[in-house]
Amino acid sequence: MNIQPIEHLSATSPDLTGRVAIVTGSTSGIGLGIAKALAAAGADVIINGLGDSTEIDFTCAALEKESGSRIVYNGANLLDPAGARGLVEETIAGVGRVDILVNNAGIQHVSPIEDFPVDKWDAIIALNMSAAFHTTRAAFGMMKEAGWGRIVNIASAHGLIASPYKGAYVAAKHGVVGLTKVVALEGARHGVTCNAICPGYVWTPLVENQIGDTAKARGISREEVIENVLLAAQPSKRFAEVEELGALTVFLCSEGGKSITGTALPMDGGWTAQ
Ligand code: NAD
Repeated sequence: MNIQPIEHLSATSPDLTGRVAIVTGSTSGIGLGIAKALAAAGADVIINGLGDSTEIDFTCAALEKESGSRIVYNGANLLDPAGARGLVEETIAGVGRVDILVNNAGIQHVSPIEDFPVDKWDAIIALNMSAAFHTTRAAFGMMKEAGWGRIVNIASAHGLIASPYKGAYVAAKHGVVGLTKVVALEGARHGVTCNAICPGYVWTPLVENQIGDTAKARGISREEVIENVLLAAQPSKRFAEVEELGALTVFLCSEGGKSITGTALPMDGGWTAQ
């Protein structure tokens, strides 16, 4: 067997110079944290997501200035399969390649199953699960041909375990963990890894929004939701920060991460260890 030496292997400062990364849902929260970390490691980054166009332009310009990496915005709506596919195809057409794909865009809705709005179910399945299939499907051929690729799916602790009132979200995130394993097996001989990161609670706008919904569903106060619901099962009793998600993603995309594939990595302060 011909074992090649690993180039650019540094556990402390992975070098992603020359790589092109797409991060879905990166105008906010975890996605933006991951985009910043990838750009700081040298990757050019395609930012995607919804939001105010002036704010997005400002964020992209600031990130380009501070990282020195190329930052491109693509506002594809990933609820639409054509939008998800188009995000990858337009990146390949415009920038020439895609080496790293981070499927992060996601939404949440909290409701008892018997009242769960069908349109919310459809939207959560479309964005949180099916969009990852459509982007992966569009990028996988090029990664295989290049003999190098990294796909990181931002699942959730809810990809491993369940909580009440989150039927669509838990179903979608379990689906993402399953897709991750399949893509890892298909990419294993081609230098393409695929992993899921399963965060517990991370302080972002998505969590902020569900505090109100959970308070309503359970008839309790905002403080009680934080103490007794959100962080009740998280032994560390702290929210993870988006920089932690960024650091793990950069590691998985580095040469040091090349044998890590098909995993669902909890980043949950011990929640799923119980
Ligand atoms: P967020 O609300 O801060 O960000 C969501 C991003 O998705 C935004 O950029 C938004 O514009 C984008 N988005 C929403 N709808 C879109 C659409 N139709 N097309 C394209 N982009 C769209 O949320 P977050 O907390 O940063 O969550 C990011 C991911 O992390 C989600 O998949 C979420 O399920 C997962 N996650 C979050 C937590 C947490 O505690 N925050 C925990 C576990 C998993």
